[in-house]
Amino acid sequence: MRLVLVGPPGAGKGTQAEFIAAHLAVPKISTGDIFRANVSQGTPLGVEAKRYMDAGQLVPDEVTINMVRDRLAEPDAADGFLLDGFPRTVPQAAALDKLLADMGSALDLVLELVVDDDEVIRRLSGRRTCRGCGKIWHVEFDPTSREGICDRCGAELFQRDDDKAETIANRLVEYASKTAPLVDYYGAQGKLVGIDATGPVEDVTVRAIDALR
Ligand code: ADP
Ligand code: ADP
Ligand code: ADP
Repeated sequence: MRLVLVGPPGAGKGTQAEFIAAHLAVPKISTGDIFRANVSQGTPLGVEAKRYMDAGQLVPDEVTINMVRDRLAEPDAADGFLLDGFPRTVPQAAALDKLLADMGSALDLVLELVVDDDEVIRRLSGRRTCRGCGKIWHVEFDPTSREGICDRCGAELFQRDDDKAETIANRLVEYASKTAPLVDYYGAQGKLVGIDATGPVEDVTVRAIDALR
C-alpha cells in the first residue's frame, strides 16, 4: 500500500506511522527524520535544512522533492510505503503524483489525523524523542519519560530544537497556509480519509487501521 499521513505538527503522525508501517509491512519514510539525521551528521543538506527548521519554516520544495525522489527509488519502497511529513505543500503533492505516475503507480490513500490547535500545542510542548531508538514520548502522557530515559532502549531523551513555544507558533502558521490546502487537493482526488486523532494512542491506531480497509 502507498499511503500518506497528513496533519498538523504534533497530530501524532510519527507516533502512528510506526504502528501503521509495521502493520502494513512497508517502510516508514519521514522527511523530518531524514532532515534531522542530515543535520546531526552535518551534511550539506543538513546545513541547508537547519536554517529553515530552526525558524519553524518549511525547507524549500525543490530540496525536499529531490530527497524524497532518491528515497522512493530505494528497493524497499518498491511495493509500498508510508510517507510521514511529506508532502507538505501542493507543489510537493503534485511532484509526488508525477513521480509515482512515471513509475506506473499511484497513491492509494491519504490519512488525515484531525486534532485541534490546543491539543497540538500541548503535545508539541511535552514531546521528547529518544536519542537511541527514535521512539517518541511525552512528558505528561508517558510519565516514565519524565526521568529522561527511554523506556524501550534505555538511551537519553531530548527535546527537539523546534519544539520551543515561538517555533511552534511559526510551524502552525506554515501548516495553515501551506499544508492545510492538501486536504482539498486529495479530497478532490477522492483519496482523503480523516480520522479523529484524539484520545489514547492505541485508540487512534485502531481508527487508522480501520480506515485503511
Ligand atoms: P512535525 O510533524 O512535528 O512538524 P517533522 O519532523 O515532520 O515535524 O518536520 C520538522 C521540520 O522539518 C519541519 O518544520 C520542516 O522545517 C522540515 N520538513 C519536514 N518535512 C518537510 C517537507 N515535506 N517539506 C518541507 N519541510 C519539511
Ligand atoms: P534509513 O537510513 O533507514 O533510511 P532515515 O530515513 O532516518 O533512515 O535516513 C537517514 C539517512 O538517510 C541519513 O544518513 C541520510 O543522510 C540518508 N538519506 C536518505 N536519503 C537521502 C538524500 N536524498 N539525501 C541525503 N541523505 C539521504
Ligand atoms: P507529529 O509527528 O505529527 O508531529 P508526534 O507523533 O511526534 O506528532 O506526536 C507529538 C507528541 O504528542 C509526542 O510527544 C507524542 O508522544 C504525543 N502523542 C502522540 N499521540 C498522542 C495521543 N493520542 N495522545 C496523547 N499524546 C500523543
